[in-house]
Amino acid sequence: MWEIGHMKITKEVWQVGGDSLTAPEDAAIYMICFGEQAALIDAGTGKGHEKLISNIEKCGVNASQIEYLFITHCHFDHTGGAEKVREEVSCKLIVHELDAIYLEKGDSDVTAARWYGKVLEPLKVDHKITSFEESFLVGSRRIKSFHTPGHSPGSVVYLVESEDKKILFGQDVHGPLDPSILSNQEDYIKSLKFLLSLKIDILCEGHYGIFEGERDIQSFIKSFL
Ligand SMILES: [Zn+2]
Repeated sequence: MWEIGHMKITKEVWQVGGDSLTAPEDAAIYMICFGEQAALIDAGTGKGHEKLISNIEKCGVNASQIEYLFITHCHFDHTGGAEKVREEVSCKLIVHELDAIYLEKGDSDVTAARWYGKVLEPLKVDHKITSFEESFLVGSRRIKSFHTPGHSPGSVVYLVESEDKKILFGQDVHGPLDPSILSNQEDYIKSLKFLLSLKIDILCEGHYGIFEGERDIQSFIKSFL
């Protein structure tokens, strides 16, 4: 399935980037397309940018349909490629305000860019999420964000419904927690408990792949409690 450059989750949700799809250091990159408009969830490191664009087109989506780049959190394996994506498709970059600070400053420590031997260039954020729950219109449908701090101060998850399934983009549900990236264990535990309460059907994780079915998802999340 990797030869075709993406993994289809539903007829309007795909994984288009990740370690075996774009570059070994990349966290997963997901795409939704609701009618005429599409959006990406996270951007990888940027090393596999050309592959990412070609993977998007292989899903039958024109890269120019991408209106938003929703960032789950500031870490470099999710954000290093954000500027390249924006330059290519001129989409809006959405980040929670508590992680946007470190992207706008170009902080290579809190964004963990240094873990990858990289420097994070300051990044302009188009919209900062400030509340616990926000909702964005993509084409004819909505994607919701929920603030789930812990792994980083401004971590968020995004929820969509597709083919009657609740699909959650929960990148880095697994952590890790580390003082250098301002993790907070108390917040993390609270956030995991909140994720359990969402009763999702499909969990799209940043590094652990895609989980389907309530039992597998609940046991994956509970394993970090
Ligand atoms: Zn992370």
